[in-house]
Amino acid sequence: MTDKMQKSIEKELTEAKVFAELAAHIAEEAKIKAESATLVAEDAVKSKQQFLANMSHEIRTPMNAIIGFTKVVLKTELSAKQKEYLSAIKMSGDALIVLLNDILDLAKVDAGKMEFEQTPFKMALSISAMLHLFETKIQEKNLGLIKKYDAKIPDVLVGDPVRLHQIILNLVSNAVKFTSQGEITVNVRLLKEDKNNVIIEFAISDTGIGIPKNKIDKIFENFQQATSDTARLFGGTGLGLAIAKQLVEKQGGNIWVKSKIGKGSTFSFTLCFQKTNAEAELEAVILELSPEIKNIKVLVVEDMALNQLLMKTILDDFGFECDIAANGKIAVEKLQQKSYDIILMDLQMPEMNGFEATEHIRNKMKSKIPIIALTADVTTVDLAKCKSVGMNDYIAKPLDERVLYSKIVGLVKKPAINHTKNGNAHAQRKKIKYTNLEYLIQRTKNNSGMIMDMISAYLEQTPPLIKAMKQSVLDKDWETLHAAVHKMLPSFSIMGISTDFESIAKKLQEFARVQQQEDQIQDMVLQIETVCTQACNELEEEFNRILNTKS
Ligand code: ADP
Repeated sequence: MTDKMQKSIEKELTEAKVFAELAAHIAEEAKIKAESATLVAEDAVKSKQQFLANMSHEIRTPMNAIIGFTKVVLKTELSAKQKEYLSAIKMSGDALIVLLNDILDLAKVDAGKMEFEQTPFKMALSISAMLHLFETKIQEKNLGLIKKYDAKIPDVLVGDPVRLHQIILNLVSNAVKFTSQGEITVNVRLLKEDKNNVIIEFAISDTGIGIPKNKIDKIFENFQQATSDTARLFGGTGLGLAIAKQLVEKQGGNIWVKSKIGKGSTFSFTLCFQKTNAEAELEAVILELSPEIKNIKVLVVEDMALNQLLMKTILDDFGFECDIAANGKIAVEKLQQKSYDIILMDLQMPEMNGFEATEHIRNKMKSKIPIIALTADVTTVDLAKCKSVGMNDYIAKPLDERVLYSKIVGLVKKPAINHTKNGNAHAQRKKIKYTNLEYLIQRTKNNSGMIMDMISAYLEQTPPLIKAMKQSVLDKDWETLHAAVHKMLPSFSIMGISTDFESIAKKLQEFARVQQQEDQIQDMVLQIETVCTQACNELEEEFNRILNTKS
């Protein structure tokens, strides 16, 4: 190699090295830029979620009052039409609250944290009441609405009507939104039926704009819309389908879509419901209370005037005596002047908040009066704090009257088991009855046949569930454990089993879900087994007693 050649190669090498360094530098800069862009994008998503969360929280307070007072009016004398309209207001209010709660939770909840009700309800009625809400909008757009309802579907089914309502509401409102001519068809059909369950398929079809093929998988994701100008043209946030999908899948169903651009879309989902002999929950429940539980004295500690009024109306309706304190300090003063059976305590209040007041009542006043926390946002932090300051239970707003009632009666009439810890626990525990048919009697209007049906259903379902729970602990099969506890949960309030045990079961369910606290799980399963076995014994006796009085 000549000197010249060597020189030129060296030069090329140096140049190549410089270029390589330069390229690396550029790549590094691009990476930094990309990272900062990601951060900005992440920040944007975060602030969007924060904004949604804040707004939902703000909207929820007046919503609670709207729903609460609608419930109150529903209990008064009304014409059929008025009742229908008010029911529609209440149902959409309920759906809105659920939606607000979902948005609030969306950041926290990814999987499994959602809880579903198991309530008997009339599906046909529930769906037509919901479609009512769209009548004006559909007429305004000059669209047709076709409803097909399979007559083979049992009248009353057990499931979560509020969530079902929310899913269909999301799909129908999309169908209406994205359709400018033609019709919307809502088709509900019985897909499968066995002794205990039915699977129902719901299909909502439209003759609207359709969805591009490459976007169809994306639209079920959070904050996703089919095209970038969707929000500008049609509004919306891209949350509806994500929530609908979660609601369907968490209940074991499937959701899918078929669509053709310019022709229309069909969103379908399937859900399983239990069959039942029970009567559906009535919209306006008139509680007939036995005289012995009529004179419960309740102290409501709540600062918002609207909520005070609402609480007073509900408690008056239960036939309970009710005093109001606008904050914790006033509550403490009232407690010194008069005796109460139970306190309903809001958490956020001026002067002295719910936690401080409870601490004062427990530690300074040494009072064991039952305290139920009224919480707007059921976060685990709040709940742990409630327990640690000595509250007995909590109830989430908007209040479900039935839950409120059973919690109050449960705490006032049945001392919680841990209250007996210091006394002669053994002797007292012996006397405790675990079940209370008050709720069933009320619900069935004292229909003994129905009460017996419910009891025998409980006796049939409970022992295998306990067995499954015990086995799954042995197998460390947390999914099965979670499913078994989940199935068992609704029966606690139906059979009037103390909310203390219901809370244990809820905690157990949560531990099984997150697969933590294995040490406590075993203990809890044992507790649940003891309670349920005892409950089965009591209910069997009760069953025979009713049988004897009948014959
Ligand atoms: P939003 O309607 O608030 O934008 P969704 O999650 O309900 O959010 O829907 C996501 C996207 O899916 C919509 O923005 C739209 O692009 C598309 N989409 C949903 N339903 C339909 C429909 N029936 N027809 C056409 N496009 C639809």
